[in-house]
Amino acid sequence: MTQVYDRVAVIGLGLIASSMIHAMRRAGLAGTITGYDLSESHRRMAEEDGLCDRMAASAAEAVKDADLVALCVPVGAMGDVAAEIGPHLRPGATVTDVGSVKRSVIDAVAPHLPPDVTFIPGHPMAGTEYSGPRAGFAELFDGRWCLLLPPEGCDPEALGKLRALWTGMGATVEEMEPDHHDLVCAVISHAPHLIAYTMVGVADDLRRVTDQEVIKFSAAGFRDFTRIAASDPTMWRDVFLNNKDATLEILGRFTEELFALQRAIRTGDGDMLFDYFTRTRAIRKGIIEAGQDTDAPDFGRGKRQPGE
Ligand code: NAP
Repeated sequence: MTQVYDRVAVIGLGLIASSMIHAMRRAGLAGTITGYDLSESHRRMAEEDGLCDRMAASAAEAVKDADLVALCVPVGAMGDVAAEIGPHLRPGATVTDVGSVKRSVIDAVAPHLPPDVTFIPGHPMAGTEYSGPRAGFAELFDGRWCLLLPPEGCDPEALGKLRALWTGMGATVEEMEPDHHDLVCAVISHAPHLIAYTMVGVADDLRRVTDQEVIKFSAAGFRDFTRIAASDPTMWRDVFLNNKDATLEILGRFTEELFALQRAIRTGDGDMLFDYFTRTRAIRKGIIEAGQDTDAPDFGRGKRQPGE
C-alpha cells in the first residue's frame, strides 16, 4: 500500500482514533501521525504505548502542519475542537471527522474552518463497546462500511485521497447525504442502542434477574443487550442529543410496532407473531449474507476483541 498523507493529526485518542492509527500503520498510509487528547490519562497511555509518532500539547499545536486532520472526539465536542483548530490549519489541508451523527456535526464544525481547507465529514460503521486509546485494533474497519458526506463541489482530489485512506484501512466507502445518514443511523444503530439501554435498565429494575443469572444463562438474547448497553455513556448521550428528530421518529414507529406485538400476544394471534418473526429472520439472514456479521454462536466477536 502506498502512503496517502504525509502528516496526519488525530484529535481524541479513543477507540476509533487508535483503530485508525493501527490501521494506517498496518498499511503504511501515513508518514507521521500526531495525536492529542483532552484527557491527561489518555495522553499518558498513548505516550507509553507509542501510539502516535508525536504527541501534541494542544489540538491547535497538533494540526499546525497536518495534511489531514481527523476529529475523533464525541459528537458534542466537535464544535469546540473545530473552533480551537480553525485558525491553525494549513491551507490546502483536509479536515474529516468520525462522528456518529452528521447534520449537527457539520453545522457545528463547518463555520469554524477557513475557506482554503476542505471539510469532508465521515462515519465508519464499525465499533465496539470499549473506549480509550487501548481499545483500538487495526482490523476494526476490515470489511465494514465507511460513509463519507462530501459537500457539494467538494475538491475531487481531496475526496479521492480520503477515500483511498479508508479503503487502505480496510473499509468500503460509500457517499451519503447528511440528513439521510442520520435517519439510516437512527434505524440501524441509535434506536437499537436506546432499546438495549432500556432493556438492561428494566432487568436491573426488576431485581428478579440476578447478575449471576445473567452471566450463567447469557446464551439468551439478553447478553447482546448488555454488551450494547455497556457502550460509552458520553458518546451515546451526545448521539441522542444530536440526532433528536430522527431518533424520536424511529422510536415512535418502534412503539407502534411494540403495541401491535403486545396485542398479538394478548389476543393469542399466533399467525401475526409467526409472520412478523419470519420477516425479521430474513433481515438477519441478509446481514450475514452481506458479510456484516457472522452466524457463529458468539457472533464472532471474541475474535475481534483486542488483547485476546
Ligand atoms: P472514545 O473511545 O471515548 O474516544 C474519544 C476520546 O476523545 C476520549 O479519549 C476523550 O477523552 C477524548 N476527548 C473528549 N473531548 C475532547 C476534546 N474536546 N479534545 C480532545 N479530546 C477529547 O470514543 P470513540 O468510540 O472513539 O468515539 C469517537 C467518535 O467516533 C465519536 O464521535 C463517536 O460518535 C464516533 N464513533 C464511535 C463508534 C463506536 O462504536 N464507538 C463508531 C463510529 C463512530 P475522555 O474520555 O477523557 O472524554
